[in-house]
Amino acid sequence: MTTEDVTLSAEGLRAGYGDLVAVWDTDLTVHRGGITGLLGRNGAGKSTVFRALAGLSPAQRGAVRWKGEEITHLPPYRRSALGLAVVQEGKRVFRQRTIEENLLLGGFSTRLGRRALRERARSVYARFPVLADRRHEPAGGLSGGQQQMLAIGQALMSEPEVILLDEPSAGLAPSVVAEVLDVVQQLGRDEGLGVLLIEQDVDLVAGLVDTVTVLELGRVVYHGEPSAPRIRAAMEAVHATEGAK
Ligand code: ATP
Repeated sequence: MTTEDVTLSAEGLRAGYGDLVAVWDTDLTVHRGGITGLLGRNGAGKSTVFRALAGLSPAQRGAVRWKGEEITHLPPYRRSALGLAVVQEGKRVFRQRTIEENLLLGGFSTRLGRRALRERARSVYARFPVLADRRHEPAGGLSGGQQQMLAIGQALMSEPEVILLDEPSAGLAPSVVAEVLDVVQQLGRDEGLGVLLIEQDVDLVAGLVDTVTVLELGRVVYHGEPSAPRIRAAMEAVHATEGAK
């Protein structure tokens, strides 16, 4: 990877809620055609980083950059226009709306007309045929895994260069998790998007990503090669220290 490949980065990012600092001084890069993992247990600060990268929460310190340009204070819709798409944890789809309406809403920020958006929806259907078959049904009738596919499809409607996925496997059966992760792999490896994959499961992430950042108690405890034993050792070291205090 060269520095030109870095599409999205966080440098010394500090973020939280009001006066509370939830994440301290975190560095992270997402590069073209690469999958970056962001790991950590419950409450480690992963979603806080996600929110600051997406512009959903303000950064308290540090910078977020897009291809080297600072975007720390840009609102979410401007980041979306640059090519950043997000799939938030648990906020999968508009359940009362049809699958097709969900996709068209996903492309709203592009300001394209309905015809162009329908064209884009066709490419989402080609990727997820189950959505095509049921396009006029309410999204609430889909299974959890299918709703996650639809949420990813919605994000792809803006034809992003980078996609941030916050725990896309949460609440899904293991066989469905494997399907979702296949999609994540295709997006990064085969289609050249930059992907940030947030998850809690060390083995799941280590087998899939190119590089990993591990957060514990709001601080980076490991950064680099996705080696499961090394990641576990780093996570356990923090908790051993905390336990001894
Ligand atoms: P999970 O895997 O459970 O989603 P996480 O690693 O994404 O956890 P965050 O959701 O980023 O962790 O939370 C980091 C810290 O910030 C936690 O201590 C959490 O309690 C706190 N926190 C999260 N959201 C808020 C909020 N809206 N207001 C105040 N504190 C918050």
